[in-house]
Amino acid sequence: MTTTIGLEIHVQLATRTKMFCGCSTTFGDEPNTHVCPVCLGLPGALPTLNAEAVHLAITLAMALGCEVHEVSEFSRKNYFYPDLPKSYQITQFDRPIATVGSVPIVTERGARSIRLTRAHIEEDAGKSMHVADITLGGETLVDFNRCGMPLIEIVTEPDMQSGDEAYEFLRNLRRLVRWLGVSSGDMEKGAMRCDVNVSVSPDPALRGTKVEIKNLNSFRSVKRAIDYEEQRQAQCLGGGTSIVSETRHFDEVQGTTTVMRSKEASNDYRYFPEPDLPLLQLDSTELESLRAQMPELPWEMQSRFERDLGLSPYDAALLTEERSTAEFFQQTIALYNNPKKAASYMGTEVARLLNERGKTLSETQLTPAALAGLLTMVENNTISNTASKDVLPLLVDTGVTPAEAVKNLGLEQVSDASAIKDYACEVIAENATQVEQFKSGKEAVLGFLVGQLMKKSKGKANPKLAGEVLRTLLKS
Ligand code: ZN
Ligand code: MN
Repeated sequence: MTTTIGLEIHVQLATRTKMFCGCSTTFGDEPNTHVCPVCLGLPGALPTLNAEAVHLAITLAMALGCEVHEVSEFSRKNYFYPDLPKSYQITQFDRPIATVGSVPIVTERGARSIRLTRAHIEEDAGKSMHVADITLGGETLVDFNRCGMPLIEIVTEPDMQSGDEAYEFLRNLRRLVRWLGVSSGDMEKGAMRCDVNVSVSPDPALRGTKVEIKNLNSFRSVKRAIDYEEQRQAQCLGGGTSIVSETRHFDEVQGTTTVMRSKEASNDYRYFPEPDLPLLQLDSTELESLRAQMPELPWEMQSRFERDLGLSPYDAALLTEERSTAEFFQQTIALYNNPKKAASYMGTEVARLLNERGKTLSETQLTPAALAGLLTMVENNTISNTASKDVLPLLVDTGVTPAEAVKNLGLEQVSDASAIKDYACEVIAENATQVEQFKSGKEAVLGFLVGQLMKKSKGKANPKLAGEVLRTLLKS
Protein backbone atom coordinates (compact mmCIF):
# COMPACT_ATOMS: atom_id res chain seq x y z
CA MET A 1 0.00 0.00 0.00
CA THR A 2 1.27 3.48 -0.88
CA THR A 3 0.19 6.51 1.14
CA THR A 4 0.07 9.97 -0.42
CA ILE A 5 -0.29 13.07 1.75
CA GLY A 6 -0.84 16.72 0.91
CA LEU A 7 -1.31 19.53 3.43
CA GLU A 8 -3.17 22.84 3.52
CA ILE A 9 -1.87 25.11 6.23
CA HIS A 10 -3.46 28.33 7.46
CA VAL A 11 -0.93 30.68 9.04
CA GLN A 12 -2.18 33.78 10.85
CA LEU A 13 -0.14 36.82 9.85
CA ALA A 14 1.26 38.76 12.83
CA THR A 15 -0.36 42.13 12.21
CA ARG A 16 -1.79 44.50 14.81
CA THR A 17 -5.11 44.80 12.98
CA LYS A 18 -7.37 42.56 10.89
CA MET A 19 -7.16 41.87 7.15
CA PHE A 20 -9.79 44.35 5.93
CA CYS A 21 -10.61 46.58 8.95
CA GLY A 22 -8.94 48.32 11.88
CA CYS A 23 -10.12 45.86 14.57
CA SER A 24 -7.47 44.49 16.94
CA THR A 25 -6.07 40.99 16.46
CA THR A 26 -5.33 40.51 20.18
CA PHE A 27 -6.02 36.92 21.22
CA GLY A 28 -8.02 35.88 24.26
CA ASP A 29 -10.06 39.04 24.93
CA GLU A 30 -13.78 39.00 25.79
CA PRO A 31 -15.81 37.49 22.91
CA ASN A 32 -17.22 39.94 20.35
CA THR A 33 -15.22 42.96 21.57
CA HIS A 34 -13.03 43.29 18.45
CA VAL A 35 -15.75 43.73 15.85
CA CYS A 36 -16.96 46.46 13.49
CA PRO A 37 -19.38 46.79 10.55
CA VAL A 38 -16.71 45.49 8.13
CA CYS A 39 -15.80 42.25 9.89
CA LEU A 40 -19.43 41.70 10.95
CA GLY A 41 -20.45 41.99 7.29
CA LEU A 42 -23.05 44.72 7.89
CA PRO A 43 -24.70 46.04 4.70
CA GLY A 44 -22.75 48.79 2.97
CA ALA A 45 -19.49 48.28 4.90
CA LEU A 46 -16.44 48.22 2.64
CA PRO A 47 -13.17 46.30 3.15
CA THR A 48 -9.77 48.08 3.10
CA LEU A 49 -6.68 45.94 2.50
CA ASN A 50 -4.11 45.73 5.33
CA ALA A 51 -0.77 46.55 3.66
CA GLU A 52 1.28 45.05 6.49
CA ALA A 53 -0.49 41.69 6.05
CA VAL A 54 0.41 41.77 2.36
CA HIS A 55 4.08 42.50 3.22
CA LEU A 56 4.22 39.58 5.64
CA ALA A 57 2.58 37.27 3.10
CA ILE A 58 5.09 38.30 0.42
CA THR A 59 8.04 37.81 2.80
CA LEU A 60 6.89 34.30 3.67
CA ALA A 61 6.18 33.43 0.03
CA MET A 62 9.65 34.62 -0.99
CA ALA A 63 11.31 32.60 1.78
CA LEU A 64 9.39 29.55 0.55
CA GLY A 65 10.93 30.08 -2.87
CA CYS A 66 7.53 30.93 -4.40
CA GLU A 67 6.98 32.94 -7.50
CA VAL A 68 5.28 36.13 -6.21
CA HIS A 69 2.87 37.59 -8.75
CA GLU A 70 2.75 41.32 -9.33
CA VAL A 71 -0.99 41.08 -9.97
CA SER A 72 -3.35 38.88 -7.98
CA GLU A 73 -7.07 38.97 -7.29
CA PHE A 74 -9.43 38.58 -4.34
CA SER A 75 -12.49 36.36 -4.75
CA ARG A 76 -15.60 35.59 -2.78
CA LYS A 77 -16.05 32.06 -1.55
CA ASN A 78 -19.75 31.74 -0.77
CA TYR A 79 -21.09 29.45 1.91
CA PHE A 80 -23.35 29.72 4.92
CA TYR A 81 -22.09 29.01 8.39
CA PRO A 82 -23.02 30.61 11.75
CA ASP A 83 -19.47 31.87 12.32
CA LEU A 84 -19.38 33.62 8.92
CA PRO A 85 -21.67 36.67 9.20
CA LYS A 86 -21.08 37.86 5.62
CA SER A 87 -21.97 34.40 4.25
CA TYR A 88 -18.83 34.61 2.16
CA GLN A 89 -15.10 34.60 2.80
CA ILE A 90 -12.76 36.98 0.99
CA THR A 91 -9.96 34.79 -0.33
CA GLN A 92 -7.90 34.34 -3.49
CA PHE A 93 -8.98 31.70 -5.98
CA ASP A 94 -7.64 31.46 -9.52
CA ARG A 95 -5.15 34.33 -9.22
CA PRO A 96 -3.27 33.77 -5.93
CA ILE A 97 -0.44 36.04 -4.79
CA ALA A 98 2.13 33.24 -5.06
CA THR A 99 2.58 29.88 -6.78
CA VAL A 100 5.06 26.97 -6.59
CA GLY A 101 7.86 26.93 -3.97
CA SER A 102 9.24 24.29 -1.60
CA VAL A 103 10.20 23.38 1.96
CA PRO A 104 13.17 21.08 2.71
CA ILE A 105 12.71 18.26 5.21
CA VAL A 106 15.01 15.65 6.72
CA THR A 107 13.54 12.36 7.92
CA GLU A 108 14.72 8.76 8.22
CA ARG A 109 14.33 8.57 4.45
CA GLY A 110 16.94 11.32 4.05
CA ALA A 111 16.77 14.93 2.88
CA ARG A 112 13.92 15.80 0.53
CA SER A 113 12.11 18.83 -0.76
CA ILE A 114 8.32 19.13 -0.41
CA ARG A 115 6.88 21.12 -3.28
CA LEU A 116 4.26 23.81 -2.76
CA THR A 117 1.39 24.41 -5.16
CA ARG A 118 0.41 27.89 -4.07
CA ALA A 119 0.04 30.43 -1.29
CA HIS A 120 -2.87 32.85 -1.05
CA ILE A 121 -4.13 35.58 1.25
CA GLU A 122 -7.54 35.30 2.92
CA GLU A 123 -9.54 36.23 6.00
CA ASP A 124 -10.46 33.94 8.87
CA ALA A 125 -13.98 33.09 10.04
CA GLY A 126 -15.26 33.46 13.61
CA LYS A 127 -15.25 30.75 16.20
CA SER A 128 -18.18 28.58 17.25
CA MET A 129 -18.24 27.23 20.77
CA HIS A 130 -20.50 24.31 21.47
CA VAL A 131 -21.58 24.55 25.07
CA ALA A 132 -23.28 21.64 26.77
CA ASP A 133 -26.12 23.01 28.90
CA ILE A 134 -28.45 20.48 30.50
CA THR A 135 -31.49 22.75 30.64
CA LEU A 136 -31.10 23.84 27.02
CA GLY A 137 -29.94 20.52 25.64
CA GLY A 138 -26.76 22.22 24.50
CA GLU A 139 -26.24 25.46 22.65
CA THR A 140 -23.75 27.08 20.30
CA LEU A 141 -22.14 30.44 21.00
CA VAL A 142 -20.27 32.46 18.39
CA ASP A 143 -17.25 34.71 18.92
CA PHE A 144 -16.64 37.07 15.98
CA ASN A 145 -13.29 38.38 17.30
CA ARG A 146 -11.50 36.01 14.91
CA CYS A 147 -13.62 37.11 11.93
CA GLY A 148 -11.39 38.82 9.39
CA MET A 149 -8.05 37.82 10.94
CA PRO A 150 -5.35 37.90 8.24
CA LEU A 151 -4.26 34.49 6.99
CA ILE A 152 -1.96 33.06 4.39
CA GLU A 153 -2.98 29.59 3.20
CA ILE A 154 -0.18 27.36 1.94
CA VAL A 155 -1.05 24.33 -0.19
CA THR A 156 1.50 21.56 -0.76
CA GLU A 157 1.79 19.05 -3.58
CA PRO A 158 0.96 15.49 -2.47
CA ASP A 159 4.65 14.86 -1.80
CA MET A 160 4.59 13.30 1.67
CA GLN A 161 4.21 9.61 2.38
CA SER A 162 3.97 9.31 6.16
CA GLY A 163 2.82 11.04 9.30
CA ASP A 164 6.48 11.58 10.21
CA GLU A 165 7.13 13.48 6.99
CA ALA A 166 4.08 15.69 7.52
CA TYR A 167 5.22 16.34 11.10
CA GLU A 168 8.70 17.33 9.94
CA PHE A 169 7.28 19.59 7.22
CA LEU A 170 5.12 21.45 9.74
CA ARG A 171 7.93 21.74 12.24
CA ASN A 172 10.17 23.32 9.63
CA LEU A 173 7.42 25.63 8.36
CA ARG A 174 6.69 26.82 11.88
CA ARG A 175 10.39 27.47 12.49
CA LEU A 176 10.42 29.59 9.33
CA VAL A 177 7.34 31.71 10.14
CA ARG A 178 8.71 32.45 13.61
CA TRP A 179 12.17 33.16 12.22
CA LEU A 180 10.74 35.73 9.82
CA GLY A 181 8.38 37.20 12.41
CA VAL A 182 5.54 36.55 9.99
CA SER A 183 3.44 34.65 12.54
CA SER A 184 3.62 33.38 16.12
CA GLY A 185 3.03 29.91 14.65
CA ASP A 186 1.23 29.15 17.89
CA MET A 187 -1.06 26.21 17.12
CA GLU A 188 -2.75 26.36 20.53
CA LYS A 189 -3.97 29.87 19.77
CA GLY A 190 -5.03 28.86 16.27
CA ALA A 191 -2.25 30.90 14.61
CA MET A 192 -1.33 27.81 12.60
CA ARG A 193 -3.91 25.20 11.58
CA CYS A 194 -3.60 22.26 9.28
CA ASP A 195 -5.93 20.28 7.00
CA VAL A 196 -4.62 16.98 5.71
CA ASN A 197 -5.41 15.07 2.51
CA VAL A 198 -4.63 11.37 2.73
CA SER A 199 -5.06 8.69 0.09
CA VAL A 200 -3.96 5.08 0.17
CA SER A 201 -3.54 2.94 -2.92
CA PRO A 202 -2.51 -0.71 -3.44
CA ASP A 203 -0.86 0.33 -6.70
CA PRO A 204 2.06 2.78 -6.24
CA ALA A 205 1.49 4.06 -9.78
CA LEU A 206 -2.13 5.04 -9.06
CA ARG A 207 -3.35 7.67 -6.58
CA GLY A 208 -6.11 6.46 -4.24
CA THR A 209 -9.30 8.40 -3.38
CA LYS A 210 -8.52 11.52 -1.35
CA VAL A 211 -9.94 11.92 2.16
CA GLU A 212 -9.64 15.24 3.94
CA ILE A 213 -9.15 15.65 7.69
CA LYS A 214 -9.99 19.16 8.86
CA ASN A 215 -8.70 21.58 11.47
CA LEU A 216 -5.91 19.73 13.19
CA ASN A 217 -4.39 21.97 15.82
CA SER A 218 -1.24 20.23 16.94
CA PHE A 219 1.65 18.53 15.16
CA ARG A 220 0.98 15.42 17.18
CA SER A 221 -2.67 15.35 16.07
CA VAL A 222 -1.58 15.64 12.44
CA LYS A 223 0.71 12.64 12.80
CA ARG A 224 -1.84 10.59 14.76
CA ALA A 225 -4.67 11.41 12.33
CA ILE A 226 -2.54 10.38 9.34
CA ASP A 227 -1.37 7.17 11.02
CA TYR A 228 -4.98 6.23 11.83
CA GLU A 229 -6.33 7.15 8.40
CA GLU A 230 -3.57 5.20 6.66
CA GLN A 231 -4.55 2.11 8.59
CA ARG A 232 -8.32 2.62 8.12
CA GLN A 233 -8.09 3.08 4.36
CA ALA A 234 -5.73 0.11 3.95
CA GLN A 235 -8.18 -2.02 5.93
CA CYS A 236 -11.15 -0.87 3.79
CA LEU A 237 -9.26 -1.58 0.56
CA GLY A 238 -8.04 -4.93 1.87
CA GLY A 239 -11.63 -5.91 2.67
CA GLY A 240 -12.89 -4.88 -0.77
CA THR A 241 -14.60 -1.63 0.37
CA SER A 242 -13.84 1.42 -1.75
CA ILE A 243 -12.83 4.74 -0.19
CA VAL A 244 -15.32 7.62 -0.33
CA SER A 245 -14.13 11.14 -1.05
CA GLU A 246 -15.18 12.94 2.14
CA THR A 247 -14.17 15.29 4.92
CA ARG A 248 -13.44 13.63 8.23
CA HIS A 249 -12.97 14.90 11.77
CA PHE A 250 -10.15 13.71 14.06
CA ASP A 251 -11.22 12.75 17.57
CA GLU A 252 -8.33 13.67 19.87
CA VAL A 253 -9.54 11.42 22.67
CA GLN A 254 -10.28 8.28 20.67
CA GLY A 255 -7.45 8.84 18.18
CA THR A 256 -9.85 8.03 15.32
CA THR A 257 -11.45 9.89 12.41
CA THR A 258 -15.19 10.12 11.74
CA VAL A 259 -17.19 11.40 8.77
CA MET A 260 -18.04 15.12 8.89
CA ARG A 261 -19.53 15.63 5.43
CA SER A 262 -19.14 14.54 1.84
CA LYS A 263 -16.66 16.69 -0.06
CA GLU A 264 -17.82 19.89 -1.78
CA ALA A 265 -16.59 20.62 -5.27
CA SER A 266 -15.15 24.13 -5.68
CA ASN A 267 -18.11 25.09 -7.90
CA ASP A 268 -20.38 24.68 -4.87
CA TYR A 269 -18.75 27.82 -3.48
CA ARG A 270 -19.73 29.95 -6.50
CA TYR A 271 -16.41 31.81 -6.47
CA PHE A 272 -16.41 35.18 -8.20
CA PRO A 273 -14.03 38.19 -8.15
CA GLU A 274 -14.56 40.35 -5.05
CA PRO A 275 -16.30 43.47 -6.34
CA ASP A 276 -15.38 45.59 -3.28
CA LEU A 277 -11.59 45.27 -3.74
CA PRO A 278 -9.41 46.23 -6.70
CA LEU A 279 -6.82 43.85 -8.14
CA LEU A 280 -3.85 43.48 -5.79
CA GLN A 281 -1.00 45.11 -7.71
CA LEU A 282 2.48 44.95 -6.25
CA ASP A 283 5.16 47.46 -6.96
CA SER A 284 8.37 45.86 -8.30
CA THR A 285 10.59 48.23 -6.28
CA GLU A 286 8.71 47.23 -3.15
CA LEU A 287 9.18 43.54 -3.98
CA GLU A 288 12.89 44.15 -4.51
CA SER A 289 13.23 45.89 -1.17
CA LEU A 290 11.42 43.04 0.64
CA ARG A 291 13.74 40.57 -1.08
CA ALA A 292 16.79 42.61 -0.05
CA GLN A 293 15.67 42.50 3.60
CA MET A 294 15.37 38.69 3.61
CA PRO A 295 17.54 37.20 6.37
CA GLU A 296 19.50 33.98 5.99
CA LEU A 297 16.86 31.23 6.36
CA PRO A 298 16.99 28.76 9.26
CA TRP A 299 17.71 25.73 7.09
CA GLU A 300 20.39 27.66 5.18
CA MET A 301 22.06 28.68 8.42
CA GLN A 302 21.74 25.14 9.79
CA SER A 303 23.62 23.60 6.87
CA ARG A 304 26.20 26.40 6.92
CA PHE A 305 26.89 25.70 10.61
CA GLU A 306 27.50 22.04 9.77
CA ARG A 307 29.47 22.65 6.60
CA ASP A 308 31.61 25.68 7.48
CA LEU A 309 31.83 25.54 11.27
CA GLY A 310 31.98 21.76 11.63
CA LEU A 311 29.07 21.61 14.10
CA SER A 312 27.27 18.31 14.67
CA PRO A 313 23.83 18.00 13.02
CA TYR A 314 22.36 18.01 16.52
CA ASP A 315 24.04 21.27 17.59
CA ALA A 316 23.31 22.95 14.24
CA ALA A 317 19.61 22.07 14.52
CA LEU A 318 19.40 23.19 18.15
CA LEU A 319 21.06 26.55 17.51
CA THR A 320 18.84 27.36 14.53
CA GLU A 321 15.55 26.41 16.17
CA GLU A 322 15.05 30.09 17.05
CA ARG A 323 16.54 33.11 15.37
CA SER A 324 17.46 34.84 18.64
CA THR A 325 19.49 31.78 19.71
CA ALA A 326 21.22 31.61 16.33
CA GLU A 327 22.11 35.30 16.55
CA PHE A 328 23.36 34.90 20.12
CA PHE A 329 25.60 32.06 18.96
CA GLN A 330 26.95 34.06 16.03
CA GLN A 331 27.76 37.03 18.27
CA THR A 332 29.47 34.71 20.75
CA ILE A 333 31.76 33.12 18.18
CA ALA A 334 32.65 36.54 16.80
CA LEU A 335 34.34 37.10 20.19
CA TYR A 336 35.43 33.53 20.93
CA ASN A 337 36.74 31.75 17.90
CA ASN A 338 35.91 28.14 18.71
CA PRO A 339 32.44 27.47 17.27
CA LYS A 340 32.37 23.78 18.17
CA LYS A 341 33.14 24.47 21.83
CA ALA A 342 30.72 27.39 22.02
CA ALA A 343 27.98 25.29 20.39
CA SER A 344 28.48 22.37 22.69
CA TYR A 345 28.59 24.62 25.78
CA MET A 346 25.33 26.30 24.71
CA GLY A 347 23.76 22.91 23.96
CA THR A 348 24.68 21.46 27.36
CA GLU A 349 25.47 23.86 30.22
CA VAL A 350 23.48 26.87 29.00
CA ALA A 351 20.53 24.74 27.81
CA ARG A 352 20.42 22.91 31.13
CA LEU A 353 20.34 26.16 33.08
CA LEU A 354 17.63 27.68 30.86
CA ASN A 355 15.61 24.53 31.33
CA GLU A 356 15.98 24.78 35.12
CA ARG A 357 15.00 28.45 35.09
CA GLY A 358 12.14 27.83 32.61
CA LYS A 359 13.39 30.78 30.57
CA THR A 360 14.48 31.51 27.03
CA LEU A 361 17.94 32.92 26.38
CA SER A 362 16.64 36.44 25.82
CA GLU A 363 14.78 36.38 29.15
CA THR A 364 18.07 36.01 31.05
CA GLN A 365 20.95 38.41 31.74
CA LEU A 366 23.43 36.33 29.76
CA THR A 367 25.08 38.21 26.88
CA PRO A 368 27.21 36.86 24.02
CA ALA A 369 30.13 38.89 25.41
CA ALA A 370 29.78 37.28 28.85
CA LEU A 371 29.60 33.75 27.43
CA ALA A 372 32.57 34.40 25.15
CA GLY A 373 34.48 35.80 28.14
CA LEU A 374 33.69 32.74 30.26
CA LEU A 375 34.77 30.32 27.54
CA THR A 376 37.97 32.29 27.01
CA MET A 377 38.78 32.04 30.73
CA VAL A 378 38.40 28.25 30.54
CA GLU A 379 40.55 28.13 27.44
CA ASN A 380 43.31 30.24 29.11
CA ASN A 381 43.18 28.07 32.24
CA THR A 382 42.13 31.07 34.32
CA ILE A 383 39.35 28.84 35.64
CA SER A 384 38.66 25.14 35.24
CA ASN A 385 35.80 23.81 33.15
CA THR A 386 34.18 22.58 36.37
CA ALA A 387 34.46 26.04 37.94
CA SER A 388 32.82 27.57 34.86
CA LYS A 389 29.63 25.74 35.81
CA ASP A 390 29.55 27.71 39.08
CA VAL A 391 30.14 30.99 37.25
CA LEU A 392 27.46 30.52 34.59
CA PRO A 393 24.42 30.88 36.91
CA LEU A 394 25.73 34.29 38.04
CA LEU A 395 26.04 35.45 34.45
CA VAL A 396 22.55 34.17 33.67
CA ASP A 397 20.83 35.56 36.77
CA THR A 398 22.68 38.77 37.61
CA GLY A 399 24.44 39.93 34.46
CA VAL A 400 27.83 40.48 36.17
CA THR A 401 30.90 40.10 33.95
CA PRO A 402 32.74 36.75 34.02
CA ALA A 403 35.76 38.43 35.67
CA GLU A 404 33.60 39.84 38.48
CA ALA A 405 31.83 36.51 38.96
CA VAL A 406 35.10 34.57 39.12
CA LYS A 407 36.50 37.05 41.63
CA ASN A 408 33.33 36.98 43.77
CA LEU A 409 33.42 33.20 43.88
CA GLY A 410 37.21 33.06 44.39
CA LEU A 411 37.62 30.63 41.56
CA GLU A 412 40.75 31.80 39.76
CA GLN A 413 42.66 28.72 38.78
CA VAL A 414 46.25 28.67 39.96
CA SER A 415 48.44 28.26 36.90
CA ASP A 416 51.45 29.80 38.51
CA ALA A 417 54.13 27.08 38.47
CA SER A 418 55.90 28.32 41.62
CA ALA A 419 52.65 28.36 43.64
CA ILE A 420 51.92 24.83 42.45
CA LYS A 421 55.46 23.77 43.30
CA ASP A 422 54.91 24.85 46.93
CA TYR A 423 51.76 22.68 47.12
CA ALA A 424 53.64 19.79 45.42
CA CYS A 425 56.47 19.88 47.96
CA GLU A 426 53.99 19.73 50.83
CA VAL A 427 52.17 16.79 49.24
CA ILE A 428 55.42 14.87 48.72
CA ALA A 429 56.51 15.48 52.31
CA GLU A 430 53.17 14.31 53.72
CA ASN A 431 52.71 11.15 51.61
CA ALA A 432 55.93 9.18 51.94
CA THR A 433 54.31 5.77 51.30
CA GLN A 434 52.71 6.82 48.00
CA VAL A 435 55.92 8.59 46.94
CA GLU A 436 57.85 5.32 47.48
CA GLN A 437 55.22 3.38 45.49
CA PHE A 438 55.53 5.86 42.60
CA LYS A 439 59.32 5.66 42.65
CA SER A 440 59.18 1.84 42.52
CA GLY A 441 57.21 2.10 39.27
CA LYS A 442 53.56 2.35 40.37
CA GLU A 443 52.68 5.25 38.02
CA ALA A 444 48.97 5.21 38.88
CA VAL A 445 49.72 6.67 42.32
CA LEU A 446 50.35 10.02 40.62
CA GLY A 447 46.58 10.48 40.30
CA PHE A 448 46.24 10.22 44.09
CA LEU A 449 49.00 12.76 44.65
CA VAL A 450 47.41 15.19 42.15
CA GLY A 451 44.16 14.75 44.07
CA GLN A 452 45.92 15.68 47.32
CA LEU A 453 47.40 18.76 45.65
CA MET A 454 43.98 19.81 44.31
CA LYS A 455 42.54 19.47 47.82
CA LYS A 456 45.28 21.69 49.26
CA SER A 457 44.64 24.33 46.61
CA LYS A 458 40.87 24.12 47.29
CA GLY A 459 40.35 22.96 43.70
CA LYS A 460 42.01 26.02 42.20
CA ALA A 461 45.20 24.45 40.89
CA ASN A 462 45.39 23.73 37.20
CA PRO A 463 45.27 19.89 37.37
CA LYS A 464 47.32 19.37 34.22
CA LEU A 465 50.10 21.60 35.49
CA ALA A 466 49.90 19.99 38.96
CA GLY A 467 50.54 16.56 37.41
CA GLU A 468 53.50 17.85 35.45
CA VAL A 469 55.12 19.59 38.44
CA LEU A 470 54.66 16.54 40.70
CA ARG A 471 56.13 14.21 38.10
CA THR A 472 59.18 16.43 37.62
CA LEU A 473 59.81 16.67 41.37
CA LEU A 474 59.37 12.93 41.94
CA LYS A 475 61.72 12.01 39.09
CA SER A 476 64.46 14.41 40.16
ZN1 ZN B 1 -13.55 44.87 12.16
MN1 MN C 1 -8.59 28.59 3.46
